[in-house]
Amino acid sequence: MKLFDAHCHLQDPRIFSLAPRLISSSLDSGIAHFAVNGVSEKDWHLVKQMSESYPSVVPCFGVHPWFVPERTAGWFTILRQFFDSTPSAAVGEIGLDKGSRGKQIDFDVQVEVFKKQLELAKELRRPASVHCVRAFGDLLDVMKATGPFPDGVILHSYLGSAEMVPELARLGAYFSFSGFLMSMKSQKARKMLKAVPSDRILLETDAPDALPNSKLGDLFLVEGDPSLTPELQALGENPYLRAHSDLSEVEKEVPELSKEMLNHPANIHNVLAYVASLLEMTEEELAGISYSNAIRLFTYEGSKISQEDNAAAGTVPEQSVEG
Ligand SMILES: [Zn+2]
Repeated sequence: MKLFDAHCHLQDPRIFSLAPRLISSSLDSGIAHFAVNGVSEKDWHLVKQMSESYPSVVPCFGVHPWFVPERTAGWFTILRQFFDSTPSAAVGEIGLDKGSRGKQIDFDVQVEVFKKQLELAKELRRPASVHCVRAFGDLLDVMKATGPFPDGVILHSYLGSAEMVPELARLGAYFSFSGFLMSMKSQKARKMLKAVPSDRILLETDAPDALPNSKLGDLFLVEGDPSLTPELQALGENPYLRAHSDLSEVEKEVPELSKEMLNHPANIHNVLAYVASLLEMTEEELAGISYSNAIRLFTYEGSKISQEDNAAAGTVPEQSVEG
């Protein structure tokens, strides 16, 4: 079984020094590729460096909405330079956020920065990885105005409604699921998952965030971290997500996970098991579908995805995107 982590942050300062070990243990557990998303000008060079060291790392560059205020006057020129010098790169993480952290940031400026990067993705014919919290109406408006996106827009850690899925899919959206899905009521999550066309499903970890709400024994915890306290072990599950079992709570605030609770990309197996159970599919079936979707999406001019990857994934053409 092969898996593709369609969205993570292995350059994150909390795990950067551990990345070589995280990558090698994840490769051992069947994860063949990682889309590593930069979030601001400050970390693009780390993402680039990581992609040069590891064939399995697909670099992505973008300004995440939380980091919009700290962009420099020349941010867009610098972003373009990163794409010029890194032909294998995709766009991300970009997006819109009206959650507790996002609403402290001027929304008009968020839209402007997001739009510019979506347009760049279109121009470069690359997929773009998008973060959206409490702003799905605005997202749809921007995507309609800028789209369609035949090269794909990844709605990462998708927690939107089932009702919005068809319109977003027509514009070129892919729907990527992480441990955050476990914070949504399972009935609602099942309805939404069943609305997603099978050629648009992706799996991701968003590591080091979004630790799945699984039994501790079933989780990979980041190596070298201090061991969990006996109280946490006694809980037998992730107290952070347990405390946020309601979707609105998660959207309200994503507190910093304590150091020992960081997510490992190998936990994509827990996400796979959960999504497969809701979709009433076998894990093998969902792994095959999501892997071939990711391979198709991340295959573009200059891409690191090889013909062998495509042949192994047996990629099938996706449904048409609105023209
Ligand atoms: Zn992310």
